Amino acid sequence: MSASSSEATLPYRLRLPGPTAVPERVLQAAARPMIAHRGPEFLARFKSILDRLQPILGRSGIPPFVFASTGIGAMESAVVNVAGPGKRVLITTNGQWGPVFRRLAEGIGAEVDEVVSPLGAPVDLDGVRKALSEKDYAAVLTVHSESSTGALNDLKALGAIVGETDALLCCDSVSGLAGAEMRADAWGVDVVVSASQKCLMCPPGLGIASVSEKAWEVISRDDRGPRGYFDYRKFRPNSEKGEPTYTAPIAMLNALDESLTMIGETGLEETLARHKRLNRMLTAGLQALGFSLFPEGAPSPTLVVMRTPGGVSAPKLIACLQDHYNCAIAGTRFEELKESLVRIGTMGWVDETDIRTDLEQIAGALVDLDSAADIGTALSAAEAARGG
Ligand SMILES: *Cc1c(COP(=O)(O)O)cnc(C)c1O
Repeated sequence: MSASSSEATLPYRLRLPGPTAVPERVLQAAARPMIAHRGPEFLARFKSILDRLQPILGRSGIPPFVFASTGIGAMESAVVNVAGPGKRVLITTNGQWGPVFRRLAEGIGAEVDEVVSPLGAPVDLDGVRKALSEKDYAAVLTVHSESSTGALNDLKALGAIVGETDALLCCDSVSGLAGAEMRADAWGVDVVVSASQKCLMCPPGLGIASVSEKAWEVISRDDRGPRGYFDYRKFRPNSEKGEPTYTAPIAMLNALDESLTMIGETGLEETLARHKRLNRMLTAGLQALGFSLFPEGAPSPTLVVMRTPGGVSAPKLIACLQDHYNCAIAGTRFEELKESLVRIGTMGWVDETDIRTDLEQIAGALVDLDSAADIGTALSAAEAARGG
């Protein structure tokens, strides 16, 4: 095994589809001394965070709610605020995250229907249309970037369909926001939830929720079960004043403040374009190494999900990258795809050098596993895919 001796000297590379690598500047910001979370310095920072999230969300109305939580907590916040015992919700499932929405909705006693698509396929829009024509739903719960399969769901089309009804469109954009375009107002996405540890280049620990006025009509009603910690009715007045709800997770918010500054320096448009460019490059390079793209429709720009070249075991490739190259990529939880699927993030703090290193290390690992790999061809293919 050629690379085993270099294991100790190679820098650790976090190349998962989340959590993602965090820039030094952001880590430094998180390490700043604690200050009063209701003092003037912190309040100004908090207000500025809310303001700068709005264009990333594509929202101009109600300011976002930002709280200590993982992504699934943010998903739960959407469910408890738009649904409740006996309320009917429609869930789109084309991977791992629809079933999480299902568990959360069933957990609070909501009535759940599901429109299921095969793994790798986009959301079944006709199925959603049909379901909405048959029953009334309080909400449609969907996923922006389905990080288990690499599928990007068409929120604009879904928003147009759901917008014809009284149902609210609620979207898990944990692995989409700040990497894949989100236009909540324009597309009619009534609730967007996200988290800090993916394209936003922060450590895990912050949840984000953004709601439309149409959603607020429903959220402000008192006709459901208890909402506890995630009660949006508590968050809205605070957010409107630019104040945190509960004790602010200060270190995490300092980190987000810095990552938003970095996104501002790059520009949102270029940030989104970079995700697409790096995604194209990694996809093309891996295709040249014999991998094949897994998602069938539009691939999410925030991660690459591919089948390994014939005969190469994905778990062995992942273990080889870990053991010989100190590089962490992901496999899959789906039993039937375990041997063949790998997932690599193009989220957040990633650049073209990372993509070339990905290809070099993966080519090296293929050779280590006695498979053929031509790194020159892979790098040329990636370069050729740069411009789109
Ligand atoms: C990563 C991810 C989550 C993560 O939830 P956690 O609670 O932070 O682990 C949720 N949804 C999607 C689509 C994701 O990609």
